[in-house]
Amino acid sequence: MSHQEKFEYDNLPFPVVVVIGGGFAGLEVVRGLAGKPYKVLLLDKQNHHCFQPLLYQVATASLSADSIAHPFRRTIAPVPNITFRMTCVNSVRPADNVVVTDDGEVKYDHLIIATGTTTNFFGNSEVEEQAMQLKTISQALDIRSDFLQDFEAALKLNDEEGQRRRLNFVIVGGGPTGVELAGAMAEIRTTVLKHEYRELDSDKMMIHLIDSGDRLLRSFSEKSSAKALTYLQDMGVHVNFGVRVTGMDGDRVTFMDGSTMETNTVIWAAGVRGVCFPGLEEFFHPQANRYNVDGFNKVIGTANVYAVGDVALMTSDTAWPNGHPQVAPAAKQQAKQLVRNLLRRPGERMPFRYKDGGSMATIGRYKAVLDVGTFHLGGPIAWSGWIFIHLMSLVGFRNRFAVLFNWAWKYMSWKNTIRLIIRPYVRTTTVTEPHTPVAS
Ligand SMILES: Cc1cc2nc3c(=O)[nH]c(=O)nc-3n(C[C@H](O)[C@H](O)[C@H](O)COP(=O)(O)OP(=O)(O)OC[C@H]3O[C@@H](n4cnc5c(N)ncnc54)[C@H](O)[C@@H]3O)c2cc1C
Repeated sequence: MSHQEKFEYDNLPFPVVVVIGGGFAGLEVVRGLAGKPYKVLLLDKQNHHCFQPLLYQVATASLSADSIAHPFRRTIAPVPNITFRMTCVNSVRPADNVVVTDDGEVKYDHLIIATGTTTNFFGNSEVEEQAMQLKTISQALDIRSDFLQDFEAALKLNDEEGQRRRLNFVIVGGGPTGVELAGAMAEIRTTVLKHEYRELDSDKMMIHLIDSGDRLLRSFSEKSSAKALTYLQDMGVHVNFGVRVTGMDGDRVTFMDGSTMETNTVIWAAGVRGVCFPGLEEFFHPQANRYNVDGFNKVIGTANVYAVGDVALMTSDTAWPNGHPQVAPAAKQQAKQLVRNLLRRPGERMPFRYKDGGSMATIGRYKAVLDVGTFHLGGPIAWSGWIFIHLMSLVGFRNRFAVLFNWAWKYMSWKNTIRLIIRPYVRTTTVTEPHTPVAS
């Protein structure tokens, strides 16, 4: 991409808004500015929007990848003032109003950063190299391939220890991602492993959920945390509190007290940090790992740079002095308000106020927790609410239909057929284990 590249909207006499990132916030901005007096260029390193809250269902083979993704070109196809380029943004030169991408430079009048977060390994390069992550569809597919490969490999092993290591899954981080993933893995043990890998003793599959704190789902009420813990323990998940991972080598994970656990699979769900660009470091809050923004989502200290969604830290909303929670509704609401403000005259703009609609997490079939203000709910009603809200939030009718059909089929029959190893996951460290020769 270069300054010279012609965009389809070039003949329109409007200011250029460059949006980096088509997640919940970026896509909401783009949709809000459709047909409005701005030329909008969406840049994303992926060609699709990803519905991250259901990534763990792709990782555990409950949903196919295309059920939770939607191509940007489909979303913007009918809108003349919006253009998309698939490219990675590497830096920003705010003094020149320029964004530097893998494919060249792009000029903007207004820049909107909606890049969300990336996994935070807290500087532990060993863990970063070895652990699996769950932020993108390709990472979810890696997890799916990995556990299916582990089942297949365990079958061929003739030593008990090697089998146990293969079937030992460690999930680090007791937030919603870790809890939902642990619950889904526990269901895999009682369904897939038990019925489809009959030669394996399903009791050998262990799921450990590790957290450095003293309760699960820290952003939820204590009641919901306790309920989630009970659900997981009833499903046979080993939950360990006050434990910190300090290292791993592909065969075992090491904890802060020096103890170790044999495992080939560690999934890291213990933290995130905002995506910050060289050129804008001075506006980034190093502890919060997000851009400091004012009540209008403008990056404080800049003239025409905005940040929305997970990457934005707004402390001026009096009900949220430490910033808004990094969740999809906050990202979408901020984006909607930013669009409204961009369409208003400067004196008429309104600061953002977050309306918290509550939090929910699902742990398994008919097991979910829901917090709305001081109201807490668990069990089948919360679980049905979780299904409904996620279905309604998916982009695209086809996705809603596909997910509804997949879930209905899965929950009625437990017969889900998307357990395919299409792109095998290749570990950074290759494990060498003794094999039982395959019978000819
Ligand atoms: C596994 C998981 C489960 C979750 N569950 C829930 C849940 O149940 N409920 C809930 O409300 N929230 C949940 N969240 C959080 C929610 O997904 C985020 O709050 C939300 O995605 C934030 O939206 P965003 O637009 O700020 O960023 P994102 O949705 O992360 O979008 C960022 C976009 O920026 C693009 N991008 C990043 N860097 C670059 C670059 N350098 N160049 C170009 N493009 C770039 C990315 O490709 C991506 O498309 C979950 C998150 C995860 C990972």
